[in-house]
Amino acid sequence: MSTATSPAVNKSAAAPKYSLRVYNTLSKTKEPFETLQPGKVGIYLCGPTVYKPSHIGHMVGPIIFDAIKRYLEYVGYDVTWVVNITDVDDKLINEANKRGLTMAAVAEEMTADYHRNLAAMGIDTIDHFPKATAHMQEIIDFTQKLIDRGFAYASGGDVFFDVGRDREYGKLSGRSLEAMQGEGGGAAERKKSSADFALWKSAKPGEPSWSSPWGEGRPGWHIECSAMAGKILGESFDIHGGGLDLVFPHHENEVAQSECCHGKPLAKYWMHNGLMQASGEADKVGGGGRDRLAGDQAAQEAGKIGKSKGAQAFSELLKKYAGETIRFFLLATHYRRPIDFSEERILDVEKGLDQFYRFFERYKRVTGDDFYTLTSAAHREQGDFTPSADATEQAIAEHRRKFLESMDDDFNTGGAIGDLFELVRLLNRYVDAEKLESTGKSDAAKVAVLKRGATVMRELANTVGLFRTPVQKPGAAGGANDELVGKLMKLFIEVRAEARKNKNFATADGIRKGLAEIGVVLEDRPDGTSWSVTK
Ligand SMILES: [Zn+2]
Repeated sequence: MSTATSPAVNKSAAAPKYSLRVYNTLSKTKEPFETLQPGKVGIYLCGPTVYKPSHIGHMVGPIIFDAIKRYLEYVGYDVTWVVNITDVDDKLINEANKRGLTMAAVAEEMTADYHRNLAAMGIDTIDHFPKATAHMQEIIDFTQKLIDRGFAYASGGDVFFDVGRDREYGKLSGRSLEAMQGEGGGAAERKKSSADFALWKSAKPGEPSWSSPWGEGRPGWHIECSAMAGKILGESFDIHGGGLDLVFPHHENEVAQSECCHGKPLAKYWMHNGLMQASGEADKVGGGGRDRLAGDQAAQEAGKIGKSKGAQAFSELLKKYAGETIRFFLLATHYRRPIDFSEERILDVEKGLDQFYRFFERYKRVTGDDFYTLTSAAHREQGDFTPSADATEQAIAEHRRKFLESMDDDFNTGGAIGDLFELVRLLNRYVDAEKLESTGKSDAAKVAVLKRGATVMRELANTVGLFRTPVQKPGAAGGANDELVGKLMKLFIEVRAEARKNKNFATADGIRKGLAEIGVVLEDRPDGTSWSVTK
């Protein structure tokens, strides 16, 4: 985590040669991806309001943008990624009062929870985590500038943005001025128009507050993002992201504030991810189910997690599932679609992932090398290769091409993961067909093709943050126990093989079924039997 406060220095002046396309909420079309400065990308993603422990909905944006940043770097961009922490807010004040703590204590506890969850998910690519309370001067200066330019007005200790003065208001969400928003009650009486929203709120007695030209108070939520994004990424930057539920009013208001303040576009591309919803609710909220793409904010919001039964603490979920399983689950859906959440679906994903883990074990048996120590290309150009005449090597190159094509097309991680599945099936078939696991049969040229395939697998998976390090499944025994389990499983497999040899199929089946009940799956191959844990 860095604390630099000025826009990063332009390290490379060359724009990567690959052509990416990005869906822009602003134009509602896929556009060619062209950065403001050659070779550089600035990303701002709206982060959490830290008043409760994170739930899975809070991890969707970070996982998607972690994959996007990794991919952009792989393609050749120098990426700066900012995720803000909202540590002053009504919800925080209420929670602090409920628990008899200060707002800062609640914020600190929940920020630590957020960071722990990001770390458990392997999200280590965020460059800045600015906190609103550490940027009061920037927020006050921003607000003053809007007043000076005639876009905001002070009223009874509050400051409001004058929506009627912004001719472009509504351009992001497509909503008209008539859409009601913001504060009711006392604040409504101090506004010129009901659509105006607060930049600064006067403090009520006992609330945390900061001194300002308009009296003691605290900032509104929207202005925090405008001020912090401007400070770290500059007045204009490349990508602004967030959940679809933030398009209106939050992002619409950020656009209004920043563009009226600076007189230039805030972000070139607005990327919005679909919302996490409890499985089964997809059909309730519009009938389109998982085929719906972005643009239907109200429908997706109706079913989103946080408003539904799926909002268990993320740290609880991590006790049951490996971070990689959750990452795989989230990336398997296109980022603009709503994500149906259920533990059954996560279990399905776990089974799918086992195909990869089993392949990595086979790879080690064949080559003696660990998949996780394979050196693969960190940059796309390095990974380009001309396949030999070997049909499998040609198929490997073709899967690589398709994976990259999926990612170039609006970061279609779902399509890309489909390509990884095809690659792992190809490689497993190859090991079987060439009997590479049989001792004494390894043919150097064939092993080289397998190694090519595994290296490409590692290269591609790493671009979306998958298969970087071996996974320790939650609850899995470690250390000495692992060794013991290994020996026991070897014994079980031998006893079963012996039973089968003696045509005692009842015993052999009994062993298989008994193991399956405790989550251990046996897999018979021409060269022997392997085992894996499914839960
Ligand atoms: Zn924001």
